[in-house]
Amino acid sequence: MVDRRAILVLVVAVLAWVGVPGADAAPPLKVVATTGMIADTARSIGGPAITVTALMGEGVDPHLYKASPGDVRIMSGAGLLLWNGLHLEGRLGDAITKLGSRVPVVCVSDSMPPDRLLRSGGAGSVPDPHVWFDLALWRFACERIRDAIIEHAPGAADGVRARCAAHLELLDTAAGHVRAVVASIPAERRLLVTAHDAFGYFGRANGLTVRGIQGLSTDSEASLRELNALVDLIVERKVPAVFIESSVPRKTVEALVEGCSARGHAVTIGGELLSDAVGAAGTEQGTHVGMVVNDAEVIARALGGTVPARPAALATWLDAAAGRAP
Ligand SMILES: [Zn+2]
Repeated sequence: MVDRRAILVLVVAVLAWVGVPGADAAPPLKVVATTGMIADTARSIGGPAITVTALMGEGVDPHLYKASPGDVRIMSGAGLLLWNGLHLEGRLGDAITKLGSRVPVVCVSDSMPPDRLLRSGGAGSVPDPHVWFDLALWRFACERIRDAIIEHAPGAADGVRARCAAHLELLDTAAGHVRAVVASIPAERRLLVTAHDAFGYFGRANGLTVRGIQGLSTDSEASLRELNALVDLIVERKVPAVFIESSVPRKTVEALVEGCSARGHAVTIGGELLSDAVGAAGTEQGTHVGMVVNDAEVIARALGGTVPARPAALATWLDAAAGRAP
């Protein structure tokens, strides 16, 4: 008969050899995020406790994005799946909802106070999904991401809390800078015209009137009547520049420029804004904060503002994001 103590010793030895997962030895939590804005925020907050995969890369339009079989595989293997919600992800949203029973899924906008969401169609209409452009509102997303990471990687809680607190401070600093940048634009020129309605929160946070040629989703077509109304507004306010977006074809903006020219008003394309996707990895625009700061600076320069110097803490952070020596 086998000695029970011998079995116990054997079990302990085997466990020691395979390794019992502990807080220190825990592998990083596999986080999958739909957009680059969410992925970047999660990286800042999760640090070494997580690995992050973004489904949508540079220049990808989330409204029209469809999940590939590869995406479904990546999402199925996630330890935590983060998405924007508010109908931003269009069809991908359906795939995510289906995965909810198998993978921990967290919608980063679901703790945002409903009265702070923009609804262009009045009460009861679908809220504007472009919430990352209000840096104060994005705090709720940060806290939601922090809590979700801690829930699924409890051993990393202290570090995650500390990194989130630092990131919230950075958001505050960036928000102050962006307000100052927009305030440098002469008051009568504070009109931002872009390809689609992505900048509603940006406009509300910074005192800028915003008009998109297409609606809240790139799924909708701009009508000729709407285009002509925008031409009237630009000519009347003598707006010097309109803007293209990295994730939206530029043809509607070019039609607007031609329309203004036909009315004797020369309007230029003031630059390319990052609206629904972050820029290239390894650049400051490849981060959520860098994208919003750069957009503000591009807009201000083209509309006749004078961009103030970046606060030191923000400049240092953006330099690091872009791999520039301090
Ligand atoms: Zn959009």
